[in-house]
Amino acid sequence: MKTIGLIGGMSWESTLSYYKLLNEGVRQRLGGLHSAKLILHSVDFAPIARLQNEAKWEEAGIILNQAALSLERAGADFILLCTNTMHKVAPQIIQDCHIPFVHIAEATAKALQKNHSKKTILLGTKFTMQESFYKDILQEQGISVVIPNEKDIFLINQIIFDELCFGTIKSSSKELFLSIINGLKNDDETIDSVILGCTEIGLLLDPKCSQLPLYDTTLLHVKEALNLAIPL
Ligand code: GLU
Repeated sequence: MKTIGLIGGMSWESTLSYYKLLNEGVRQRLGGLHSAKLILHSVDFAPIARLQNEAKWEEAGIILNQAALSLERAGADFILLCTNTMHKVAPQIIQDCHIPFVHIAEATAKALQKNHSKKTILLGTKFTMQESFYKDILQEQGISVVIPNEKDIFLINQIIFDELCFGTIKSSSKELFLSIINGLKNDDETIDSVILGCTEIGLLLDPKCSQLPLYDTTLLHVKEALNLAIPL
């Protein structure tokens, strides 16, 4: 079994999901008392979130690059960055790193492609929904991306940072997410999937709560890591 390196803490609520899912996955594959071999470098999210809002991405990238290099030095065989948003500076984060990096958007695009999804709704932070770094990877694989309107982008972003990153799960927020998904689907019947493109959204929405298939990026990222750590 290989050793998984995690850059976490953004937020730690979703890093907990990674830790649990990776261990469950190892137990499922190897049985008995087996558990995941992993090294976690968990950062303080407050300065990272501040740098996001001040558009000082390079500064945030320096902090996360140091985290990646420390994981390599500590013996990790490959790295997962446990947030979609900070993949905006993924090339900077893995600079001078010699171990593989498991890209969350690439893992997601692969899963959609496998199921022949052609048009998807992308939900995540305002950065992930509005900027091109994430959508480009999907579009390069022939998947069209639909995002909510300005008002809904604001509301989704607010729920992520004010509720989900604090572990607060409200049924009103779940209903809002579902009504946004249904509204977009009603406007465009050709939409065939939804990407939960923020590692905390899976805390709010479970796969069965929508008629459209939901692609939880945390689950897909973990699955990719398990395949690398314990090849079947
Ligand atoms: N964990 C979130 C994501 O997957 C949001 C936190 C962040 O801005 O990094 O994008």
